[in-house]
Amino acid sequence: MITLALSKGRIFDEIMPLLASAGIAVLEDPEKSRKLILATNQPDVRVVLVRASDVPTYVQYGGADMGVCGKDTLIEHNAEWGGAARSGLFLPLDLRIARCRVSVAVRSDFDYEHAVRQGARLRVASKYTAIARDFFATKGVHVDMIKLYGSMELAPLTGLADAIVDLVSTGNTLKANHLVEVERIMDISSHLVVNQAALKLKQAPLRRIIDAFAAAIPPAE
Ligand code: AMP
Repeated sequence: MITLALSKGRIFDEIMPLLASAGIAVLEDPEKSRKLILATNQPDVRVVLVRASDVPTYVQYGGADMGVCGKDTLIEHNAEWGGAARSGLFLPLDLRIARCRVSVAVRSDFDYEHAVRQGARLRVASKYTAIARDFFATKGVHVDMIKLYGSMELAPLTGLADAIVDLVSTGNTLKANHLVEVERIMDISSHLVVNQAALKLKQAPLRRIIDAFAAAIPPAE
């Protein structure tokens, strides 16, 4: 049995064509079913639905043989483990799906450039504390990090933080909350993550899926 860990939403939707290229079709719609384990048309392949940030954990500990998650999630996961090598995850492919960016955003009436130039200490709220910490350290800006798990846009609006570090795709969420993007930290896309022991034990079926995905990845823009 091959177990693939996915999160609902963009990643689930955008991985479907890649799965199809490997001859795999998920038999249930996760938006309509409450099931957490979904069967596929291949009796020896199943999908488990987990939170995006739990995908690397499932794969690392062998709860799933492979999974798909954003580079943001991987960086944060590996930071907890003291680096990619220690987390033991094998990353064979950038799938180039669920693309977005990690950016710094502030209230439209906050003069970010001025604050940075003045050497002010910034209060930064984010779910992506490793990425944010690293970015501001490289920039030489002192920050107090505030860890949040969701609705980061609220932090500058309520005075909890001066800035947020969050995923941006169209920019509509920022705009709707009167926030402006002031720095683009990095481009994000989803990667395939594979459990190293599984790759040895189930080499043929996993390789078949990896190779099919590799051949079907959307072209670079
Ligand atoms: P947008 O309004 O299109 O800029 O999307 C921003 C919102 O969607 C933010 O709340 C982000 O956390 C979330 N988001 C954008 N892209 C992704 C992605 N690839 N994966 C997960 N969440 C995303």
